[in-house]
Amino acid sequence: MDSKNAWLKYTKKRDRKKVMEFAEQYRAFLSVSKTERECTDFFAAEAEKAGFKNLDEIIAENGTVKAGDKVYRTNRGKNIALFVIGEEPLSKGMNILGAHIDSPRMDLKQVPLYEDTEMAFLDTHYYGGIKKYQWVTLPLALHGVVAKKDGTVVKVCIGEDIEDPVVGVSDLLIHLAADQMKKTGAKVIEGEDLNVMIGTIPLDKATDDKDKKDAVKKNILKILKDKYDIEEDDFLSAEIVVLPAGPARDYGLDRGCIMGYGQDDKVCAYPSFRAIVDTEPGKRTYACLLVDKEEIGSVGATGMQSKFFANTVAELLHAEGDDSPLSIMRAMQYSKALSSDVSAAFDPNYPEVMEKKNSAYFGRGLVINKYTGARGKSGSNDASAEYMAEIRKIFDDADVAFQTSELGKVDQGGGGTIAYILGNWDMNVIDSGVAVLNMHAPWEITSKVDIYEAYKGYVAFLLA
Ligand code: MN
Ligand code: MN
Repeated sequence: MDSKNAWLKYTKKRDRKKVMEFAEQYRAFLSVSKTERECTDFFAAEAEKAGFKNLDEIIAENGTVKAGDKVYRTNRGKNIALFVIGEEPLSKGMNILGAHIDSPRMDLKQVPLYEDTEMAFLDTHYYGGIKKYQWVTLPLALHGVVAKKDGTVVKVCIGEDIEDPVVGVSDLLIHLAADQMKKTGAKVIEGEDLNVMIGTIPLDKATDDKDKKDAVKKNILKILKDKYDIEEDDFLSAEIVVLPAGPARDYGLDRGCIMGYGQDDKVCAYPSFRAIVDTEPGKRTYACLLVDKEEIGSVGATGMQSKFFANTVAELLHAEGDDSPLSIMRAMQYSKALSSDVSAAFDPNYPEVMEKKNSAYFGRGLVINKYTGARGKSGSNDASAEYMAEIRKIFDDADVAFQTSELGKVDQGGGGTIAYILGNWDMNVIDSGVAVLNMHAPWEITSKVDIYEAYKGYVAFLLA
């Protein structure tokens, strides 16, 4: 097996430049697209620029689609599907690239705001799997929306502009941490302690005792009223998340890696999106499906388990003039998918959790996981040997550097992806993706050459 370092494919200056330029475009995306809503907005806007039409507008006009057309559809602002219609009827199936655009973070509770000891706080409930002790003493930003009763939706983003204030969660000083340091990692910082400090100045117009109560909180409410025209009750219908503030950065003195928030799974979503946007229409229909809620089980209307994708394929068939209920089943059944999600990169600091022959390594290209899961592959899609062979051929023919891996040693842990849910439609699916260090930590790390190989692999898959 060839496990050559993929950087060695790009020794010529002009080739190396292509890798670096793609990474730079990814880094710019990552810095401004930290939530599923921001990713959906970014991808929809870029798709429009690339000539994709909004399918909802075609549906409203009872319009048609034909070979060569490019369309997209968003779902509640949190999930997006893109299609490039092929020459073959859709009922012959699609080549589908799937990935997720939600990432672990802290969500504000529905009643979040309170004052304690003349400090104002926002109470949170974390989202996805996190080591809670990693999320304290960091500069954090607030991203999200506040939906008001009058139907308006106010976008919130505080902490990203260098002139913005940041917020954060405090930790105990080492001098007084004797008891805390004896706790196990899971208990050092507990979920209910992830309280975000947002203010310390009391409202200066406090004239009577009633006003003086919770004056710091009142001052924060005044700031929110002035800046966003929102009231305390509006938090009831808000989705505001707390996540690491600041842009993604080059990582390493050789600039070989990227450090950024939420690379699980935007490091697969971005190259998947770019692959469908950059590839000329072909024989088969291309699809790219970027979903929400993977980190909490792919549930709900915007997760992979939603009927959104199948409904959208049904709409496309209708727009093609095919209203047979059988066609939707065939379109899914004859599709093939690359379900992309991040793999754990081998970490020389923690070799004991990995099995070296079956680990993913930085610089060795796109990762293929025949199966994922935990405790005896439980919850895994487990692609067939025949499909695995087809995928190997696609990547070898296109000179894509790839490696295979599984998530750590047997019974060390494990994890799942969206692959099995696509598989439930009776289609061939395989897990693939990019290796990540610090997975689910506030700042995750990826290798630029792996991102570029992933992009090349996705293009090759669409064309196959
Ligand atoms: Mn993931
Ligand atoms: Mn994850």
